[in-house]
Amino acid sequence: MKIKKVLIANRGEISLRVARTCAKMGIASVSIYSETDKDLPHAKYSEESYSLGMGSLAQTYLDQDKIIKIAKDCGADAIHPGYGFLSENTEFCKKVIDAGIKFIGPSVSAIELMGDKKTSKVKMEALGIPLVPGYHGNEQDSEFLLAEAKKIGFPVLVKATAGGGGKGMRIVETEQDFTQALEGAKREAKNAFGNDKVLLEKYIINPRHIEVQLVSDGQGNHYHFYERECSIQRRYQKVIEETPSTALDQKLRDEMCACAVKIAEGIEYVGAGTIEYILAPDNSFYFLEMNTRLQVEHPVTEMVTGYDLVELQILAAAGEAFSFKQSDIKQSGHSLEMRIYAEDPDNDFLPSIGKIFSVGEQEVPSARLDSGFEAGNYVSIKYDPMLAKLIVHGSNRKEAMENAIKSLNDFVFSGVKTNRDYLRRILKHPKFIEGDIHTHFIQDYKDDLGKSEFQRNEKALLIAAALSDELPEKNGPWNNVMNFRNV
Ligand code: ADP
Repeated sequence: MKIKKVLIANRGEISLRVARTCAKMGIASVSIYSETDKDLPHAKYSEESYSLGMGSLAQTYLDQDKIIKIAKDCGADAIHPGYGFLSENTEFCKKVIDAGIKFIGPSVSAIELMGDKKTSKVKMEALGIPLVPGYHGNEQDSEFLLAEAKKIGFPVLVKATAGGGGKGMRIVETEQDFTQALEGAKREAKNAFGNDKVLLEKYIINPRHIEVQLVSDGQGNHYHFYERECSIQRRYQKVIEETPSTALDQKLRDEMCACAVKIAEGIEYVGAGTIEYILAPDNSFYFLEMNTRLQVEHPVTEMVTGYDLVELQILAAAGEAFSFKQSDIKQSGHSLEMRIYAEDPDNDFLPSIGKIFSVGEQEVPSARLDSGFEAGNYVSIKYDPMLAKLIVHGSNRKEAMENAIKSLNDFVFSGVKTNRDYLRRILKHPKFIEGDIHTHFIQDYKDDLGKSEFQRNEKALLIAAALSDELPEKNGPWNNVMNFRNV
């Protein structure tokens, strides 16, 4: 059945991104917004948009009944949940289906199965998928878990089974630290997810985070769209993603992609999903989890394969078969995504708020800015600090990195402090240039990524400018500041 009108149950860049694909497909889109967001582009792009009122997240973007009522009243025949918010919420998914509306995503049972790290591991074990050595049974007694941890061998990772976003996770280096770390993880998990069950995993030293993009059509055909490398993380949150990964040769890539397709087949998946793996330095790879939704970093895959993943999600939800074969999907060139956050990396990553004066003009032809903001908007403390994603392409990694730096120079987002300079420092780091990265990159090279000499100079110039009563002039300090900014 064709989808004619999609309500987008999200905000910011992802709401806009979905709306654009709807427009391309001749589908009407409906956006929703909290009163705090009423001036943001996503609230204005679609022909129809509805206010969720003022209030907390629970009273706005997470108010399931309010959102479903809007969808019914406006005659939407499908809901796209974006990522985060209600995208992996089975209660919401069930309510949407019960209201006679299509949920653009997989089945309730697939979300349920993969939403829990324990149940998903049990299923993966049955399918013969490699898992990190560990314990994911029902027993939660601390003495028992300590004995299991000893069997696994330290360091061990304690993980909340309901976990996400790195919450309820603790690295335990020694036996002595175990009980305290276990209690900490359980407490955090209980607070965040209302469920304090944990599992144990061998803690892999210096691994890489590699994930495979899957999309299954509405007729039982499963496709992979190759890998993304997301090893540049801060506190388990991805900062820069790229594809292809420098860690994979063709054989390893084929194995990881085949394994992902096997998972999709094994759970009779429909729609877009991501298999996350951890890749050990000896090239062993292990299933970490599956995300049953569109990922933040999906654009790098779109850049190298040329497919619009949101379009495929909509076709799959409509029950359609895709018109292409797996062998038609090719990786072409290299793509990088940088997450632009309103935060101050030189001040403990403190979130910054304020009015955006300008976004900046992009001169790199391949660059794509998926932004939730435009000049004049206010960045509020209420929501995620991600302002935009900057995605670039190059015929190879070197060219993609050059384009990434050029694009960062073009994008200013003036008015609020952003992590732009920090991203440039990562991109210019010799180890990053070599492709020698792992999930502790940011932590291990913390000092190298700190404020560099030219930025200290920049600050000195700003102070000099502020102290002088002169207005900015052609050869004055402000001009030098601008030159510094374009290094
Ligand atoms: P969450 O769902 O909370 O994001 P994940 O299981 O997806 O948790 O893991 C998040 C990140 O934690 C990974 O990308 C990786 O950096 C790190 N990680 C997870 N499991 C391990 C492990 N067994 N050994 C080392 N690092 C791990």
